[in-house]
Amino acid sequence: MMQTLMVKVEAAPEQAEALHETMHQFNAACNDIAKTAFELRLANKIELQKTVYYRIRAQYNLSAQMAVRAISKTVEAYKRDKSIQVEFDLDGAMPYDQRIMSWKGLDRVSLLTLKGRLVLPIRVGEYYSDRMNRPRGQVDLIFRNKTFYLAVVVDAPDASPIDATAVLGIDLGVKNIAVDSTGEVFSGDAIEKTRRKIDTIKADLQQCGTKSAKRHLKKIGKHESRFRRDVNHCTSKKMVVKAIDTSSIIALEDLSGIGKRTTVKKSQRRKHLSWGFGQLRQFIEYKATNAGVPVVYINPAYTSQECHVCHHISESNRPTRDDFVCTCCGSSADADYNAALNIRARVEANLPIVARIFAQLQAPNIGGAHARQFIGG
Ligand SMILES: [Zn+2]
Repeated sequence: MMQTLMVKVEAAPEQAEALHETMHQFNAACNDIAKTAFELRLANKIELQKTVYYRIRAQYNLSAQMAVRAISKTVEAYKRDKSIQVEFDLDGAMPYDQRIMSWKGLDRVSLLTLKGRLVLPIRVGEYYSDRMNRPRGQVDLIFRNKTFYLAVVVDAPDASPIDATAVLGIDLGVKNIAVDSTGEVFSGDAIEKTRRKIDTIKADLQQCGTKSAKRHLKKIGKHESRFRRDVNHCTSKKMVVKAIDTSSIIALEDLSGIGKRTTVKKSQRRKHLSWGFGQLRQFIEYKATNAGVPVVYINPAYTSQECHVCHHISESNRPTRDDFVCTCCGSSADADYNAALNIRARVEANLPIVARIFAQLQAPNIGGAHARQFIGG
């Protein structure tokens, strides 16, 4: 089974600048090639290469292999839909193969940029380090949240998929880290306390502004992220173990648009985003996949406003942030628990088909990418 790991590139500012420039030029070249491919109706890589190769290299300053990769990225996209001229985001993924990159152990990678080869520090979590011995083929350089990552495809041990007969709905909360549909609360108290403590120290140090204060700030930042990681590892492990024990599929909300999500108030958004739910979700997906537990995503619309008993949906079902009281049938519950029950219910309705799809796939892909196509949103 193949899995994709996201490896963080810890680039110094001038290195990040070089990566950015390279990525922009690469994608600009792709857009240029896409125009030619579309105008000449060329979906053949070799023909297209004959036409654009030298011009692209000169115009965008790309190395030979970068130009080849740009052509092949464009052709793949053009082949998917020949009725349109493909357009690439300048911050879009840039593929690196063995000719323009090399791994330097587990903590560094060498990448070719328009400023030459750069040796960059990378961070591979302890948990993943054994997998990194088996990277396969090309990797993608990705820019997300102001950070560069390498998406690396690796071999993962095969896990036989569980025979799912139930659904474990998980609501990733604001007040708590998570509440699941069995009512278990993964408390955020310890984290909240630590976060507040760290915020106070940070504010003091920022005000201080000396060199040593800056050094301290950096140290604290590292401390904070390690703590977050540990909690996320621990939490996700508990969830996956429970799913195995109860033969359950894990159901999560599809929050790809969480930044825009209106159910998270502005004041809570910092908390929600800073806690790193993305990381928690990634850990859940990863551990679940390894254990053969399917992960599916549901459309998050109204999970927090819908009553899990009578399915009445209303904003006024939420008298406070933490409580749910249905204005229709009067039933009440902890708000996050109610949401977890709704998440479970939405998948339960489709359980036979979901289970069948996963059985056919043998082992689900990381990220539940397959399941995503079948459950709304
Ligand atoms: Zn109700």
